[in-house]
Amino acid sequence: MMSHQASSNQSTFSKEEMAESSILFWFRHDLRLRDNRSLSAALKHAKKHNQRFLMLYFCDPLWRQTDPFGHERMGVYRAQFILESLQELKLEIEELGGELLVLDADPIVELPRLAQTFNSDYVFASRHVCTEETRQEQDLAQALDSKNCKLALAWNHTLYGQQNLPFALGDLPDIYTQFRKQVERSASVVAPLDKPSRLQEAPQALNDSAYSCQLQDLQAEWDEKLKEYGQRDQRATMLHKGGAKAGEERLAFYFWDTALIESYKETRNGLIGDRYSTQFSPWLAVGALSPRWIWHETLRYEDEVKANSSTYWVRFELLWREYFQWVAYLYGAALFKPYGLTSELQRKTPKLGRASVKHFQRWARGETGNEFIDANMKELNLTGFMSNRGRQNVASYLIHDLGVDWRMGAGYFESKLIDYDPAANWGNWAYIAGVGNDPRPQRKFNTYGQAERYDARGEYRALWLN
Ligand SMILES: Cc1cc2nc3c(=O)[nH]c(=O)nc-3n(C[C@H](O)[C@H](O)[C@H](O)COP(=O)(O)OP(=O)(O)OC[C@H]3O[C@@H](n4cnc5c(N)ncnc54)[C@H](O)[C@@H]3O)c2cc1C
Repeated sequence: MMSHQASSNQSTFSKEEMAESSILFWFRHDLRLRDNRSLSAALKHAKKHNQRFLMLYFCDPLWRQTDPFGHERMGVYRAQFILESLQELKLEIEELGGELLVLDADPIVELPRLAQTFNSDYVFASRHVCTEETRQEQDLAQALDSKNCKLALAWNHTLYGQQNLPFALGDLPDIYTQFRKQVERSASVVAPLDKPSRLQEAPQALNDSAYSCQLQDLQAEWDEKLKEYGQRDQRATMLHKGGAKAGEERLAFYFWDTALIESYKETRNGLIGDRYSTQFSPWLAVGALSPRWIWHETLRYEDEVKANSSTYWVRFELLWREYFQWVAYLYGAALFKPYGLTSELQRKTPKLGRASVKHFQRWARGETGNEFIDANMKELNLTGFMSNRGRQNVASYLIHDLGVDWRMGAGYFESKLIDYDPAANWGNWAYIAGVGNDPRPQRKFNTYGQAERYDARGEYRALWLN
């Protein structure tokens, strides 16, 4: 599809250009300049060694893969959100004197070539927790090694670095409450870093190289897919826009402009509109917002305005997110297996049969006949978002009422959600299936009872089913 294939061709560079060395910075799920610890370490290194600086993002092959159940791994709304984030990041970087190269290529193949082309001794990047990401880190470190280049990683997607956890990873508590109590008692979230005030220039040799930014091509490709699929439905809770600026504006709105944070604990089970919950998740998933920054903004709010159980509850939920990250890091590939984190003895996940494919399809299309489930699935399909209350119910319904393999639901969410985060998604699905952390055989929701409780007047069902 892409006309422009990045290649390793080394053009004829002048002696000075070849002597110049550069640092490569690889953006992953950390599309931000504020509180990006790997970025700050990279800039320091480049300054100390008088090196040029090149920032990169890869639309890697996963974007066009399907999962074993046939779901596209990258849905159009998420791709759109990421591309918007990249457009903004690119402008921000250019304003600070730097350069961002977006390539439609496999980072594990291209980064070692780039390291050679631009004479780099280090690639800096964020560390992530799930198996595909950690495998990339291992493969890349190995491939770079043969080019005399090292991979330097830092924690940016989590509140804590592994070294700041008050226990060894292997002693991660099995139950969220125990985890929360331990970190609340004995760990602290480091203060967020400011954005850099300037960035070093890109290598001079970049102009002569075979590499050029492919962001516009990618945008055109996904715009076409979006035309086919249809724009996000206007009934969406909110039309999240990619990029750190929109994410920070959302926080300003939810905290400082409207004080909605003060009633979050009472409203967080809502279903309609943009006020019931923070809606930070899409920006957190791509790393446009730093969890550490949000954490410290809640504390600043409490210092400067008001502290109550709702202001605390935003941190309580961020700790749920955090817990799933460490669960994913500890258990690795097991999180994606049918029996999840459970031992042999507890294995009872239903088998995937023909009937369940039919059940699955009706569920996915929002055609089960259970109005609360159908309304939520319609919202997901047409907007890429669903409330937490909705997610719990549709997951429980698929697993416990329809008897379908929970991984089909998790894969479908991966395809559709704009806020898809592998650890949060697979962790929550496994949890509801009873094969996650704190395994209990039945986490079944009475979806009719839930509809009566959370959508008593039927407004949510009417919104999506009429
Ligand atoms: C089956 C299922 C799948 C899910 N998949 C994802 C996913 O792919 N990505 C994702 O970010 N969240 C996922 N969640 C968690 C949760 O539903 C969303 O984080 C939340 O609905 C996002 O809306 P919000 O930002 O307004 O959340 P708020 O209620 O405002 O919470 C603030 C933040 O806390 C974190 N958080 C809240 N609840 C959870 C939770 N249960 N698990 C992990 N983090 C949480 C999120 O980062 C969220 O942005 C899933 C939940 C379920 C039940």
